[in-house]
Amino acid sequence: MTTTESRAAKAAKAEHDHAHMPQSPAAKSALNTLLEGNRRFVAGEPYYRRDITAARAAATEQHPIAAVFTCVDSRVTAESLFDCDFGHLIVVRTAGHVPDRAAVGSLAFAVSELDVSLVIVLGHERCGAIQLAVNSYRANPHGMTGNFLTDELHSMAAEGVEKSPDDPYHAAMLRQIDHTVVELRGDDQLAGAEVIGARYDLDHGTVRIVA
Ligand SMILES: [Zn+2]
Repeated sequence: MTTTESRAAKAAKAEHDHAHMPQSPAAKSALNTLLEGNRRFVAGEPYYRRDITAARAAATEQHPIAAVFTCVDSRVTAESLFDCDFGHLIVVRTAGHVPDRAAVGSLAFAVSELDVSLVIVLGHERCGAIQLAVNSYRANPHGMTGNFLTDELHSMAAEGVEKSPDDPYHAAMLRQIDHTVVELRGDDQLAGAEVIGARYDLDHGTVRIVA
């Protein structure tokens, strides 16, 4: 094992040790289903074709397995990376998964009206919103900019830059996952579901639970 690999393995283990696992049988089962789907996706053996037959089969009602709150990034397509079909996932997206009112309201709808028992906050590597916030913080560490995204992500960017100067983007991304998870766990509207945090690796297609 090279030094780089062992450092990556250690970092992955530290993330995993920090991770929260769902407690209720429904949330556990939902998470297992999604992680199994991710394994199929990574192996290049997706089960679902997401074709017109599947769309028609799901046309009259929906029973989603989980809600995924993720970034708008064009490379982070939840149905593909969890190998899910029409009707399986409620997907809510904002840049940098900033939990604004509309996003939280949409997740609350999934929990209260569609009986979703699991909400996954899914961050990802090389997030443009996080990069924007980190660069903005470096240029202007003391003030708000008036830009919605950079202001919302300001404290995560600050922590990334100040505490992890070697890789502030990665650190700020993990911090934003934690921050989002804490916000959602503390919201009474989502009390019927468990919230966990995960990150998506663009290069390998893997989803790792981190919070
Ligand atoms: Zn992103």
